[in-house]
Amino acid sequence: MLNETYDIGLGNHDTDLRKKASSDFLSFWDEQAKNLTWFTPWNKTLEWNPPFAKWFVGGTINASYNALDIHQKTRSNKPAILWEGENDESRVITYGEMFTQVQKFSNVLKSLDVKKGDRVTIYLPMVPELPIAMFACARIGAIHTVIFSGFSAESIKDRIADSHSKVVITADGGYRRGKVVPLKEVVDEAIKDFDFVKHVVVLERTKNKIPVSSKDKFWSDLMNDALESCDAEKLDSAHPLYILYTSGTTGKPKGVLHGTGGYLTHLYSTFKWAFDIKDSDVFFCTADIGWVTGHSYVVYAPFLHGATQIMYEGAPDFPDATRMWDILQKYRATIFYTTPTALRMFMKFGDEIPNSFDLSSLRLLGTVGEPINPEVWKWYFKTIGKEKCPIIDTWWQTETGGMLISSLPGLETIPLKPGSGTLPIPGVDIDVVDENGNSVSTNTKGYLVIKNPWPGMLLTLWGDDEKYKTVYWSKYENCYYPGDYALKDEDGYMWLLGRADDVLKIAGHRIGTAELESCIVSHHDVAESAVCGIPDDVKGEVIVAFVVLKQGIVDSKILEKEISDKIRNDIGAIATPKQIYFVSKLPKTRSGKIMRRLLKAIAKNEKIGDVSTLEDGAAVTEVQNAFDEIQNSINNKPK
Ligand code: ATP
Ligand code: MG
Repeated sequence: MLNETYDIGLGNHDTDLRKKASSDFLSFWDEQAKNLTWFTPWNKTLEWNPPFAKWFVGGTINASYNALDIHQKTRSNKPAILWEGENDESRVITYGEMFTQVQKFSNVLKSLDVKKGDRVTIYLPMVPELPIAMFACARIGAIHTVIFSGFSAESIKDRIADSHSKVVITADGGYRRGKVVPLKEVVDEAIKDFDFVKHVVVLERTKNKIPVSSKDKFWSDLMNDALESCDAEKLDSAHPLYILYTSGTTGKPKGVLHGTGGYLTHLYSTFKWAFDIKDSDVFFCTADIGWVTGHSYVVYAPFLHGATQIMYEGAPDFPDATRMWDILQKYRATIFYTTPTALRMFMKFGDEIPNSFDLSSLRLLGTVGEPINPEVWKWYFKTIGKEKCPIIDTWWQTETGGMLISSLPGLETIPLKPGSGTLPIPGVDIDVVDENGNSVSTNTKGYLVIKNPWPGMLLTLWGDDEKYKTVYWSKYENCYYPGDYALKDEDGYMWLLGRADDVLKIAGHRIGTAELESCIVSHHDVAESAVCGIPDDVKGEVIVAFVVLKQGIVDSKILEKEISDKIRNDIGAIATPKQIYFVSKLPKTRSGKIMRRLLKAIAKNEKIGDVSTLEDGAAVTEVQNAFDEIQNSINNKPK
């Protein structure tokens, strides 16, 4: 653990808020919920039938109303979305235009007989029509279920079957890395046996020739015929807003169901505290809307605040590695929120590229999705933020709805420590416990648990209350178990050390994958790393490390020894890997997370299991090559 601190903030010091939150978390959240616009006030803050929570009972609200209607008097000409397409296209969509489009599309959904509580699957590329479709569902009380537009027919089929959607919204294609991704054909294949899917709405994105069937209706035709006004439904606070399947890093994705009033309260508050959002900001979150970060911090939170944001289509390194910096410079972005995976990739390309852009508009940086290696944190701070932007390392999950651990520069100024998420947000009680559920002492590793309900928490897993209970609430009594390994230091700062399932048990010691990977990545020639354990008769488990080198660096025995020595010095001899494999890329989920379980399976010569969330389409061949490369390097090395 690095105990380096960085004193950098935005000068905010609201000490009262934390005090209020810790003295009474219910009245604290009650206060926060008043920042939203409700049709009817609630009469009970929380109805808690463990493990099922209903927030703001009796209150009625609408997400689309809070995202759009409330801004029409003051912000109708303000850009909501600054959209950058892959083919040098761009569009500016104002709050006024979003409002009109969403109301029209709500009427389209009604004309297709979509009713309150019905599910609508959305399989669209990163175009403004994606949030328009989501807000339209929310407006009439339909439950949207967005599927990442890179998934195969098989993955979509499972998800549509699970949610039983009546309508599927897709496009005639999407652009990614210069190619057209055939979305409509994939949908046709996925729904061919599903009579319950009544209509397919097709957005004309690429004007590609596509097969047309009797279920298909074109977006533009439907919109031409739609009326311009549609009132937002008054929905119960706990009315389901959406189903979203998790990234599937650890196995089969889970259908997480989120509600409305609690979820929006969580998002409104965390967006303000973490990003210090102001009307003048230009916010850029690089997440695809197909993941929870896109749902929470591209679609809902920025709109609740009437913020201007950048949305982009394509990939961060296409047509080349200048893309992100180009966009940041073009729009004078003030806040940038991305993933450690993306940062490691940018870092791999070297400093010259970002240094040749004017990034001086930036005032705050953030990351999400995986533990950030301190080395990468420092690069982000120095090379991108020019040592003047605080970095927020936000820990949360699809299930938590919004951030639960993060520094909050919009609220308070605290020293930052590279690699630590810092403190839990106000109003949640987070602890680190041992196998038996007892709190571990300071600087001792254990399992992260959440000890009270929070407003953004999932309602349940779609159609499977039992699984919801077993997965999250059975390991510890009355505590939510996120499945992450962590440590709390002497300042109460949280360090996320990787997935609990991935913890390495070497000769009686427990080592988190994040600790080891950070150590390897701190070698100046290393860009990325993933470690996993394989069974060993003597030690219980031995460590295998996969290493991706920075551009232009060639692997060698000397390098291998340097990395081994570094681990021995920084962590201890016990953690010395049995094998180090140099590879050109690591298998990742489509949300950019390293899939250690795949590496483990490959290292153990086992079946690789469910890979539905692994990168496919154009990327699948690359990933397959990575597997082969790993396999070859395993076969070619003496064991
Ligand atoms: P599945 O649950 O299907 O295996 P997943 O856990 O990858 O998929 P998400 O909900 O997208 O799906 O990811 C949440 C997880 O990502 C967290 O449980 C944690 O392991 C990791 N994570 C997210 N943010 C951070 C962070 N800032 N630091 C460390 N880990 C993080
Ligand atoms: Mg998970």
